Amino acid sequence: ADWTAAVAAVRDLPADGRVLLICHVNPDGDALGSMLGFGLGLRRLGVRRMQATFPGPPEVPEPFQELPGLDLLVPATEAYPDPDLVICFDAASGSRLGELVDRLETARAALVLDHHASNTHFGRINLVDPHAAATSVVAEGLLGRLGIELDAGIAECLYVALSTDTGSFRFEATTPAVHELAARLLATGIRPGDISRRVFDTRPFGAVRLFGEVLGRARLEPAVAAGHGLVWTYATQDDLARHDQRPYVLEPLIDSVRCTAEADVSCVVKETTTGDWAVSMRSKGAVDVSRVAVALGGGGHRFAAGFTGSGTLDEVVGRIRAELDGALTGAGRH
Ligand code: 5GP
Ligand code: MN
Ligand code: MN
Repeated sequence: ADWTAAVAAVRDLPADGRVLLICHVNPDGDALGSMLGFGLGLRRLGVRRMQATFPGPPEVPEPFQELPGLDLLVPATEAYPDPDLVICFDAASGSRLGELVDRLETARAALVLDHHASNTHFGRINLVDPHAAATSVVAEGLLGRLGIELDAGIAECLYVALSTDTGSFRFEATTPAVHELAARLLATGIRPGDISRRVFDTRPFGAVRLFGEVLGRARLEPAVAAGHGLVWTYATQDDLARHDQRPYVLEPLIDSVRCTAEADVSCVVKETTTGDWAVSMRSKGAVDVSRVAVALGGGGHRFAAGFTGSGTLDEVVGRIRAELDGALTGAGRH
């Protein structure tokens, strides 16, 4: 990773330089948390002209609506057209930045902070660590090299990012270094119980009922992927409308589906607009779901990946089934 060039890009900002922070479309905890935490750090450094944004409608999911640093957010339509420095967070490729991808050309300096193995190094300076549990780990590394001290605001953002991307410190990427970072974040006085309840354990009653309906129609296909099994379910726009829910409430659904003992691979297929679907995939190890996702136009990590696709529900699920055998890992072939 090119830390020296990244530090220089920040240090070389003119006194009134404009900084634009961008994270991926449909932002999750790591996207928003690493971006806003880093932004609050830059503010401590004295950067005054700064915006944070993401493509699409400027809607922050309810679990993240109390993050510190939200005042940095502007709608994508209002983002600086030609910033002095653009920094991208948690996006594996330019396509994850939607209409904002052109800022990488128009900005004087372009920095990419990420942790996806599939990252295309689309910045001019790329800090990409595929071993990092979250983009917030990379962001904290750069804050440290810039001499910016953690405060409670920065720490809360980075803690949300770290705890969401590690599944509350349960996933394989949860190394001693992750716990050491968590300890430094907690030492600022942030309250993990309050933060976790807000981020993981709060949802509208309508979403509870919607989850019941969507989980109730899950299908198990034990004979798929060399017998490792597939479990999947789907949610339509009509499901959301009937329960009066926003699309982002569906994000945690995959965590309930992937519990299925009889299946290595789990999917939730979510209708975004009529005939368009966003697919979340998880694996327990026999299948590398990032290979399925990349083959179908998306990306992600070995155990968590996704893509968007068009067609009928059966067509989209059929495409997943067709890719599963080709994505078997060493652990999956037998
Ligand atoms: P999730 O299922 O939580 O939305 O996403 C899991 C992982 O897959 C994330 O690391 C995310 O970066 C990646 N991912 C999800 N959807 C897409 C997509 O449409 N395109 C790409 N390139 N990656 C995706
Ligand atoms: Mn993300
Ligand atoms: Mn991430």
